[in-house]
Amino acid sequence: MVPTAVVLSPENYAEVLAELLETSEAESDGALRIEHQLALPVSVQSEDTDIIVVKELVPNPCPICHHPLKFLRELIERFENEETNLIRCPLGHRYSGMMKIYHLNIFQQSENPETTQKVTECPTCGGKNIQYLGPAEMFCLDCDWDSGMVAQYKV
Ligand SMILES: [Zn+2]
Ligand SMILES: [Zn+2]
Repeated sequence: MVPTAVVLSPENYAEVLAELLETSEAESDGALRIEHQLALPVSVQSEDTDIIVVKELVPNPCPICHHPLKFLRELIERFENEETNLIRCPLGHRYSGMMKIYHLNIFQQSENPETTQKVTECPTCGGKNIQYLGPAEMFCLDCDWDSGMVAQYKV
């Protein structure tokens, strides 16, 4: 699963923005700053909306050669743009599949932030680009590893 966007309630948006402004001096667009910080597009909605949008392609791995898909972010983007329902595996097979979209609740599930360890290295690919969304919610920018964020409902 790959996180692709964040939706925040106005309250939490204001809170995140305030935190960001505290830690930096430059005057610039706060919304852009948040997107940069989270490495994801951010939008604000009025209801109970602290969610992260996560997408995945199924089937994965490839049903022909059983290799797991690589560069999921790029594949998902291409899948959305092409509208052919074809997924291309690392070995070049093209097979028909679908994209699933999930909404994950963030911020609410972090009950013991003190006890959670800081992760700085991806356990799957060893990359150092770990992106935090909350105290215990994180994902890797280089592969599709995440901290076991559980999809709570499907769109
Ligand atoms: Zn294949
Ligand atoms: Zn990784």
